[in-house]
Amino acid sequence: MQTSTATTDLVSRLRSTIDGAVITPDDSGYNDIRTVVMGNFDGRPAAVARPADDADVARIISLAADSGVPLAVRNGGHSGAGHSTNDGGLVLDVRDLDEVRVDPDSRTAWAQSGVTAGAYLATAGEHGLATGFGDAATVGLGGITLAGGVGYLSRKYGMTIDELLAAEIVTADGQRLRVDEDNNPDLFWAIRGGGGNFGVATRFKYRLRDVSQFTGGILVLPGTPETITRFVAEADAAPDELSTIMMAMVAPPMPFLPQEVHGQLVVLAFMAYVGPADEAERALAPFRAIATPLADMVAPKSYLEMFPPEAEGYHPIAASRVFFADTIDQSVGEAVIESLQASTAMMSAVQFRVLGGAIARVPSDATAFAHRNRKLMINVAAMTQDVAGLAEQEAWVTKLAERLQQGPGAYTGFLGVDGAERIGEAYPPSTYERLVAVKRQYDPRNLFRSNHNVVP
Ligand SMILES: Cc1cc2nc3c(=O)[nH]c(=O)nc-3n(C[C@H](O)[C@H](O)[C@H](O)COP(=O)(O)OP(=O)(O)OC[C@H]3O[C@@H](n4cnc5c(N)ncnc54)[C@H](O)[C@@H]3O)c2cc1C
Repeated sequence: MQTSTATTDLVSRLRSTIDGAVITPDDSGYNDIRTVVMGNFDGRPAAVARPADDADVARIISLAADSGVPLAVRNGGHSGAGHSTNDGGLVLDVRDLDEVRVDPDSRTAWAQSGVTAGAYLATAGEHGLATGFGDAATVGLGGITLAGGVGYLSRKYGMTIDELLAAEIVTADGQRLRVDEDNNPDLFWAIRGGGGNFGVATRFKYRLRDVSQFTGGILVLPGTPETITRFVAEADAAPDELSTIMMAMVAPPMPFLPQEVHGQLVVLAFMAYVGPADEAERALAPFRAIATPLADMVAPKSYLEMFPPEAEGYHPIAASRVFFADTIDQSVGEAVIESLQASTAMMSAVQFRVLGGAIARVPSDATAFAHRNRKLMINVAAMTQDVAGLAEQEAWVTKLAERLQQGPGAYTGFLGVDGAERIGEAYPPSTYERLVAVKRQYDPRNLFRSNHNVVP
């Protein structure tokens, strides 16, 4: 890798200025630290700077802005667009900002932005409390909160951004700002869905919810057009206490599935009910009646148990496409099943998240996530052994997505490399115009552009 004078100079200035670590290709640990979750991306930054505190974040931002060296911001490393790494640039990696402070009395928590969802939930869980993030423990609070956050508590309590009470942001000019409804409200609006466009978040304050009574787990049904459509209809009709994430897929050889089911089409759903166990049973009964379950592990448990440890060193290479729909009928179920049967991928899946509930009770213009009235978020994904196989899977994913997508719309949390051309789908015109105005105020030179970019 070619290192420019600007980069060499930046590295030496970072080393002499910040309290945190600066890791370059010559340092041990560089490979681990530079690696991001999705195996699609193999960026080799010239340096990874890991701030020790907010003051370090401001110093790194100022030095990066002066140097002109491309900057990426990284937390949990899950970006499906490769935004949290680069080749030859600087990565500002917030993972050492990892403190969580729970206040059970006020049912709020302050967390530094480098914390993962799993670490936050483990701390909050000691008090029987939680904030809703997504379905993965290793996702970083920084990335998921700024994108929006759809998960197991969304129908009951809304998206992560609906539980966000305040944040602290370091902007492109190195200012450290408190943002909430009263302080910099325009910026508070923009960061709730507008991603990393406006600065580096160092802290978030969230509302906490009582999850001491919780029922959840995996339910597996046979994969047919009918089970898909009925599942979606039941999830839509279910009380808000129940959120579901369902995947139509070919069953992998999971130990909890009978051997004869391996390789068969299934509907594999994560069920999450917040509230008393008897109410949960009533809400779950219609799903269990769709077909005889192939596996049913839905039971009272702690909320944290929805997030089992993830395999270390797992870096899937996948093509994916996210979009919205509002109604699905038998023909949709048939298209999904036919496409999955024809898939040449190592593994392919169509994921359905029924929205509604508290998500839809927030006005569309209250945050930068505007798709409040959409019923269903769908994610089509296909994994390959190596990046050479991506083009074939991109074609499969795109074809099925075009068949299933109803109207424009995208969620930036799941946007991949198609994000650049679909930014207008993620942000409808009135949202985008407002985001541009905020961007012009806080980052007119577009220092923060390794993201689903709002161009000033
Ligand atoms: C396996 C998997 C499961 C997922 N499940 C869900 C889910 O259930 N629900 C859901 O809503 N999303 C989900 N996502 C999407 C996820 O929320 C987004 O990819 C999110 O951006 C990841 O955040 P991160 O911090 O882990 O990623 P990173 O790659 O570290 O960050 C992504 C981008 O966010 C911005 N960013 C991160 N931290 C900061 C910060 N402190 N300040 C400013 N900008 C920052 C940067 O632009 C960065 O490039 C999932 C993704 C994966 C890969």
